[in-house]
Amino acid sequence: MRKVELLAPAGDLNRCKTAIRFGADAVYIGGQSFSLRSRASNFTIEDIKEACAYAKQYGSEIHVTVNMIPHEEDFEGLETYLKTLEEIGVKAIIVASVSIMEIARRVAPSLEIHCSTQMSITNAETANYLKEELGVDRVVLARECTLENVKKITKNTSIQTEAFIHGGMCVNYSGRCTLSNRMTLRDANRGGCAQSCRWEYRLFDKDTELTKENQWFTMGSRDLCAANELEELIHAGVYSFKIEGRMKTEYYVASIVSAYRHLIDRILEGTPLSKEEVVEFRKEILKGENRSVCNGLYTNDRLENSLILHTNSDQDVNHDFIGKVDRYKENTNSFTLKVRNVVKVGDTLEVLSPHQENRIFQVEWIKDKDGAFMEECKNPMRLIEIPIPFEVAEEDIVRRYRP
Ligand code: SF4
Repeated sequence: MRKVELLAPAGDLNRCKTAIRFGADAVYIGGQSFSLRSRASNFTIEDIKEACAYAKQYGSEIHVTVNMIPHEEDFEGLETYLKTLEEIGVKAIIVASVSIMEIARRVAPSLEIHCSTQMSITNAETANYLKEELGVDRVVLARECTLENVKKITKNTSIQTEAFIHGGMCVNYSGRCTLSNRMTLRDANRGGCAQSCRWEYRLFDKDTELTKENQWFTMGSRDLCAANELEELIHAGVYSFKIEGRMKTEYYVASIVSAYRHLIDRILEGTPLSKEEVVEFRKEILKGENRSVCNGLYTNDRLENSLILHTNSDQDVNHDFIGKVDRYKENTNSFTLKVRNVVKVGDTLEVLSPHQENRIFQVEWIKDKDGAFMEECKNPMRLIEIPIPFEVAEEDIVRRYRP
């Protein structure tokens, strides 16, 4: 079976390296200019250069978002920026504006151009036009496409298609929402979305409130999880599978990328997945989530399945991330752990190592850095020592085990 691409998000260099180690074929990042998600901790040119060099070591690639909708005053410095991206080894730019495509083709011809989901590409005619007339290399399909739409577009175009498989959704048409602009004067298409759809709303009929206090509602969408649809999408010929979330944590990036890596590799083995296997893979993916999920618009989930109708029902803080391996000590069969969340003697923990099945162990004892035994550690970033019955490596992720 042909190769496909798992495309992961990263908000900084550390998360970028984590995504690559855990199996991302490519990572998309934002520079400090011309990108949406202005609140994501965006990359300097030096960071992008380092990301490209790191990616190269692993046979991975870096894509850079240049996906703002530019107004007249937004072009200054763009040509130099694009030339620099080309020089330092960026593979592709993700673009939402025809003017930026034209400029990129002229000044940085070896950069691939991927049309952003902000362009709302929902049919093969548009995809073919963009390839033939503007020479783009890939289209990121609109998140508003159904599974059947994606299959049909991919079949009827020779350009690479990319589809979202996981992460946040806009409740409005992506890139065509001005809620944030109007309510906060922050332009959603120039990196400033205040996620106004997720705020709490009250309903009035003139001066009479129709909602009671516990009925206030939001209009946000649940996140997408396309684990159930992935096999069909791969067989349909979609080339790239995108995880959303440049503002997500390192733990989220590691666990979601690792779980989808295993699922994609299993699909590429060729034999069809059983229903039970899909359920298990989906369960594994959702261990890294802290928000409720739905199938997005792939299967036209009903309103109550796809919207976050009530506040506080959607988001829990995920305390499963226990920490990262600092060092493995072969002579004592133990490792030092950089702690993130509380860990106690007797806890069952799980180690996520790149390209390996997850492994489980029980905490038999904990020592502080001076060798004193302790029952538990609650202090983030503290270094502690724990015995382990198998070898681990620096930067492996340790989380609470949930069967
Ligand atoms: S307010 Fe909500 S729907 Fe609108 S752009 Fe922002 S996230 Fe998307």
